Amino acid sequence: MDMRLFNKEVECAVCKNHFTTQKTRNRRLKVLKRHEDFYVEYEDISPMHYHVWVCPECGYSATESEFYNIKKQEIPIIKEAISSKWTKKSYGGNRSLSEVENTYKLALAIATILKKSKGYIGGLCLKLAWTYREMGSEKEGVFLKNAIIAFTEAYETEVMPIDTIEEVPMTYLIGELNRELGNYQQAIHWYGKVVDHSDIKYYRHLKIKAREQWRIAKEAYNKKRKASQEKH
Ligand SMILES: [Zn+2]
Repeated sequence: MDMRLFNKEVECAVCKNHFTTQKTRNRRLKVLKRHEDFYVEYEDISPMHYHVWVCPECGYSATESEFYNIKKQEIPIIKEAISSKWTKKSYGGNRSLSEVENTYKLALAIATILKKSKGYIGGLCLKLAWTYREMGSEKEGVFLKNAIIAFTEAYETEVMPIDTIEEVPMTYLIGELNRELGNYQQAIHWYGKVVDHSDIKYYRHLKIKAREQWRIAKEAYNKKRKASQEKH
């Protein structure tokens, strides 16, 4: 077995089956690069690849933190919508990127069926987008967009932290995701909210980062506007 991974025994919250899933020993993993949107690029194995637990018997899937957060009355809903169509498959070994993609799609489908918080749904969309980034797939953009929609709604209606991200970093993240998709005006708006936030004194590095990214977004916005004016 790969020394960077270890087995964890899990009891399924839906069908009570016992199964094994892998977790990462993070200190043994090698970080290659930290992206501006909090995505951490690892050499080969990433903790993100093992965040979703999938029951091989019934297909119930959720991240570690949400796995047991299911109500009794929700169990028949999963059995009906997921388990009845499920072909037994284990995600307990080393996961390929396409298996990682499947685990997030499953967790997202279940989160949507159970009407989980927008923060949780946004987090799954973001991890799925990052999985597509690793795969070099253009589907990344679709899920970054879905993450923005979910996080923006969570920001307005849900209690912080959102998907373990506190308010100031989340404000920055929404700005950064907008910038990545070329929504420069939106990005500028959210970076501005970061810099003006009453808690910004606790996040000096984000203040610097938000200012840098604000400048990059502003330049890109001006360039885009100039290009469209020249066209007309
Ligand atoms: Zn199960």
